[in-house]
Amino acid sequence: MKTPICSFDAKTGILCTKCESKLKSGHLTPGDIEASMKLTKLAEENNTIDKFTLNGAYKIDQDLVMVLPSSDISIIRSDENLMKKIQKEFNNHVWFIENGATEKRFIENLLYPTKIYSLNLIWLPDGNKLTKIVISENKSKNKPSEEKLKKIAHKLKDIELLIDYIKK
Ligand SMILES: [Zn+2]
Repeated sequence: MKTPICSFDAKTGILCTKCESKLKSGHLTPGDIEASMKLTKLAEENNTIDKFTLNGAYKIDQDLVMVLPSSDISIIRSDENLMKKIQKEFNNHVWFIENGATEKRFIENLLYPTKIYSLNLIWLPDGNKLTKIVISENKSKNKPSEEKLKKIAHKLKDIELLIDYIKK
């Protein structure tokens, strides 16, 4: 597996001086380190995860947002057991974003598996913009709160989300 920190560090849970200084300078985030260590632990017992590339990760409150190549995310989403394994290790608080995602893809990744019916930019008179999306109502118990979706979009991509619902 490829991770933003050295594989030795990810295995042992101790940062080398090089990674330590990258953390201090902000080239690595606490999320990078936590996600690298947790995924590496899973990779030791799982050949599929061992082939993954973790491009980076961000910690937002209790949640970890992981950035991986879209091919790795497709594998995770098509394999329920693999998804469960990862969610268990991360206590369910995990998100997957495709590496290099455009704003639109980023929002689709964030809301997955919820379908987005429309996405429009709204320019405010003060020059700020809002990104308005229309989605169907997600009735599942485990759905993320609107507040959390907005917070992640804001912190990671500086997107101000406005969410509207259509009734099925
Ligand atoms: Zn290192």
